[in-house]
Amino acid sequence: MYIRYPQRNFKCPFCGTRMPTEEYKGLKPWKCPGCSRDLQFSRAHDNVVLLCCCGVALFVMYLLGYRGWPLIGGTLLGGFILLAALTVPLDRIVPPRLEPYRPMPWQEKKPEKFTTLFPHEPIQSNKLEQAGQAGDEKSGTDGTLP
Ligand SMILES: [Zn+2]
Repeated sequence: MYIRYPQRNFKCPFCGTRMPTEEYKGLKPWKCPGCSRDLQFSRAHDNVVLLCCCGVALFVMYLLGYRGWPLIGGTLLGGFILLAALTVPLDRIVPPRLEPYRPMPWQEKKPEKFTTLFPHEPIQSNKLEQAGQAGDEKSGTDGTLP
């Protein structure tokens, strides 16, 4: 999916390099060509816009006389229609801010390699071996008894 964004000069908030707007694609992280940091548009911005759209839709639906479930359904539907219609013009007026890329919770991968604070100590393994030998000797003596 390709989202056509308005031609606007976004700058990396870290190094100030002009971001290649033509390379921006949807929700994927936007890599800065200057410092190669992964960036994204502020999600808080999107949430505020969505909330405003739903608020306007709720107000309009209420004035039109909708109550109950039709009001809720109409608010959600109207909110998303308003959002789709207003996203591009709003982004031209109030450009979203760039922030460091954070993957969605379901996109985060658990770290496969982790560094342990307790490196393998040979002392522990020696103790275990000694305990095992002691146990074997005891069982051996028990076995030889008539
Ligand atoms: Zn940068």
